[in-house]
Amino acid sequence: MLADPQGDELELLLGHPAWKAKYAEFLPLVWAKMRELGVPGGVRDAVPWVRSLPGVVAVRYAQGACPAPGWCVKHEDGASVIWLAASLRGTAQEQFVICHEAIHHFFHPPGSYVFRARDPGAARIYEIQANWGASELKMPSWKFNRLAALWGFDAERLARHFNASFTAAQNRVDGLIRRLLRKGALPNRCPRCGRQLLPSELGCPKCRVMSTLARAVFGPGRGRGAPPRA
Ligand SMILES: [Zn+2]
Ligand SMILES: [Zn+2]
Repeated sequence: MLADPQGDELELLLGHPAWKAKYAEFLPLVWAKMRELGVPGGVRDAVPWVRSLPGVVAVRYAQGACPAPGWCVKHEDGASVIWLAASLRGTAQEQFVICHEAIHHFFHPPGSYVFRARDPGAARIYEIQANWGASELKMPSWKFNRLAALWGFDAERLARHFNASFTAAQNRVDGLIRRLLRKGALPNRCPRCGRQLLPSELGCPKCRVMSTLARAVFGPGRGRGAPPRA
């Protein structure tokens, strides 16, 4: 697990062929995997879940100095050993790190150390994908976006609900608000009379139409969140 790239490094990565090829289809792959594994609503407790995954042969806690909070050692036959820093045990961050390593296990090639040396750009993209995927495993968008809108973007409440860390929930709230601002859905208004609504108001009580925020989150005409189709 590495920190997300920022600034120039991120710009460089966005031009990488591995990113172009994987960006659009990556989240649908995660959703399909979640359906296949019977967790379309998200992974409640990642600790027992990861141990039950096909191909995960062991989850071990490392003592002493660790190269990263977690890492996934995947072999040519596809079997993985997941290592976690012992200091993570029982923390909210552990939930995220386990899901991050599970995404490497599902989607990324074995021998990541060799791979990293050969193509560091793609290896960094795999890290970004693992972070997105981990967030999705804990807080599936179709559920998270709806609750975030209903609860006025309260990251603490969302983190509690999904048994996720506050940081992970806050990152998702930030990303969602940025996307909603880009779509012009914030501030939340009535598309008919233009009245300013509260962030928690999903419709105009007077005109009985969905608010700009609700339209952006659910799409026009859909009032309820539903698992995305593959
Ligand atoms: Zn990683
Ligand atoms: Zn109105």
